[in-house]
Amino acid sequence: MNNQKSVAFVSLGCAKNLVDSEKMLGQLAEAGCAVTNDESDADVIVINTCGFLDASRREAVEVIREAVGRKKTGRCRRVVVAGCLVQRDGEGLLKHVPGVDALVGVNNRDDVVRAVLNGDGRNRGRGRPDVFLSDYHPFVQTDQARLRLTPRHYAYLRISEGCNQKCTFCTIPSIRGAMHCKPPQVVLNEARELVDDGAVEINLIGQDTTSYGEEFANGYGLDRLLRALDGVDGLSWVRLMYVYPSVMTDAIIDAIATCDRVVKYIDMPLQHINDRVLKAMHRRVTRAETIELLGRLRERIPGVFIRTTMIVGFPGETDAEFDELVAFVEEFGFDALGTFKYSLEPDTPAGRMKGQIPARVKRERYDALMQAQQAVAFQRADALVGRTLSVLVDGADSDGAMVGRHAGQAPTVDGVTYVQGTPRPGEFVTVRCTERRGYDLAGVPTTVPLSVLA
Ligand code: SF4
Repeated sequence: MNNQKSVAFVSLGCAKNLVDSEKMLGQLAEAGCAVTNDESDADVIVINTCGFLDASRREAVEVIREAVGRKKTGRCRRVVVAGCLVQRDGEGLLKHVPGVDALVGVNNRDDVVRAVLNGDGRNRGRGRPDVFLSDYHPFVQTDQARLRLTPRHYAYLRISEGCNQKCTFCTIPSIRGAMHCKPPQVVLNEARELVDDGAVEINLIGQDTTSYGEEFANGYGLDRLLRALDGVDGLSWVRLMYVYPSVMTDAIIDAIATCDRVVKYIDMPLQHINDRVLKAMHRRVTRAETIELLGRLRERIPGVFIRTTMIVGFPGETDAEFDELVAFVEEFGFDALGTFKYSLEPDTPAGRMKGQIPARVKRERYDALMQAQQAVAFQRADALVGRTLSVLVDGADSDGAMVGRHAGQAPTVDGVTYVQGTPRPGEFVTVRCTERRGYDLAGVPTTVPLSVLA
C-alpha cells in the first residue's frame, strides 16, 4: 500500500515507551510510510510522550510546540501526539498545544496508522483533532514486528505493562493501569524475533518485572521465564531491569545465579531506606528487609552488580532521615545509583501530603547524595581495574573512540567501557581494564600484547 507519507518520529521517556515507539514505527513502515530522521523533511511528525513527572510534561509540550511550528514553516502537514502524556491528560492536553492534529493514548497505540493517515477518530470534523483514547487497558499488546531504534545488537523486551504496586508518589498505575503480563510463549517468540534481528543482549523491562506471572493460574513466574530465556539460542545476555524489592524471591535469585545467559546484574529501585519514609511511600518493604535482601543477593550471586534509584525530598523527609539514606548508600556500595528529586504530582497520594520539601532543599539533598554515590561508584570501578572483562561493543562515541559495556553496565543508564582498537559494534571483546575515567572504564583487548602498550 503506497501511502508514501514521510514520517518523523520523536520518542520521549523510558524504555517501555521506546518499545511502543518501535512498534508504532513498525506499523507505519508496514503501512507504506517512509520513516525519516529529519523533521524538516517529514509530512507528519509523531511524538511519543512521557507523562510520568511534571518535568516530562514540560519537555513534551516544548517538543510538540516545536513540531506544530513546523506546520507553519515547513513541509509538515500533520502532528500526531501519542503516549503517556496523552493518556494522563487526554483532550485537556490540546489547550496547551493548539495545532495538534491527532491524539493517540497508550491503549490505542495500534491506531497510529489511522492517526497519521488522517483516520476516523472521534471529534473528526473541520479543524478538530482526531482522538484515539480509551481507558480500557487491553491485554498486554505484543511488540513483534518492531522497527528498532536501539543498535542492532541489543534490545528491550517488555514482559508486562501496568503495575499493581501503589507507590504513593507514582502516576504510572493511573496511566498504564493494572499489571498485565505477556504469556511466556509470546515473550519467547519476541526474544527469538529479536535474536533473528541481530540482538545478542536483551533487557527485560516492565514497571515491576518481579511480579511477572502474578495473574497466571499456573503460577508461571519470572524465575521460570528467565530459565526459558536462558535456552534461547543466539542470545548472550539477558538483563533484568525494574526489580521490585518486596516481591523478589529465592527462586528468581537462583535463576539469576544459575542461568549462564542471565547477566549477574540487578536494577532494583529502592527509593529510600528509612522506615517512616518507605511506609509513607507505600513501598511494602522495610529497612531491615531491604538490607537482608541485598545481603542475600550478594551472597547468592557472587560479583553481582546492583543498580538502584533513590528519591530525595519526599514529603516530610527530615534531615535525619536524609542523613540515614546517605549513610546507607555510603555503607552498602551500589555499583550505580540514580537520584530523583521528589516531584509533586497532584493526582497522587503523596501530592496531597503535608510537609512538602522546598525546591532548594531538594537540590541540596540531590547534590549531596550524588556526591556520596560518586565516591562509592569510583571505588567500585577502581576495583575492576586490572580485571579482564567480556565487553559488548556498542560503537564509536562522539570522539570516535570505541565504547562498549561489561555485564555490569546496562545501556544508556550506566557507565561505559572504552575499548582500544577498532572492534565492531555487536562484537564481544575480552578486555583487560587498564584505567577508570570518571564513572567509565577503559581497557585493551587481551589480544593486544602488553608490550604494545609500553
Ligand atoms: S513499582 Fe511503584 S514506582 Fe514503579 S511503576 Fe509501580 S507504582 Fe510506580
